[in-house]
Amino acid sequence: MSARRKAVAEGVAYWWRGRLHSEREAPQLAIPLKLVKIEAVEWLCPRCGVRAEWGPEPRCPRCGARCEPRTLVEEVPELVDAIEALERAFNRVCKARVRGAVLLEPFSPLLPLFAWRVLDVELPDGSRLVGVYAGKPRFLKRGFHTGDGSTTTFELPGNLAVIVWSGGAVECLVFEVEEPLKLVELLSG
Ligand SMILES: [Zn+2]
Repeated sequence: MSARRKAVAEGVAYWWRGRLHSEREAPQLAIPLKLVKIEAVEWLCPRCGVRAEWGPEPRCPRCGARCEPRTLVEEVPELVDAIEALERAFNRVCKARVRGAVLLEPFSPLLPLFAWRVLDVELPDGSRLVGVYAGKPRFLKRGFHTGDGSTTTFELPGNLAVIVWSGGAVECLVFEVEEPLKLVELLSG
């Protein structure tokens, strides 16, 4: 049994920029996700087969007959958070290890201290990857991480840092990767 066949049997899909792909057609940075089986109920008219909108007592929008429930099993991609999604994507291309995450003050003048490559990459949990940095180690002041008003410095390693906008907060995720520039090129493509 080849690896690909095995993956399909286990229900793996590859997600990239809002679309699912099979392993063969997936872009290099596509994120491997498990397909999870869920049960869903739909209400169908026993006379004409039309689907009803769910209500306390669903009725057929065409003939008005009382609809009956039918249970379906659907396969949907699992939801992984931004840091896990990026780790999986980067691991498809080169080894990647998460070094950490830090909250940043969104509009701090301290933020653009170095040349971020500006990106807009959607992630499976609805977060957006808005910038990426790969280069020499740098230091960056961080904002309200502790909430007590103090600022500390945070080291960006000389490999890969990405800025993610997620649920109203800006996070800097730091990865140790073998070929950071290759990842930057792929993310920009
Ligand atoms: Zn009907």
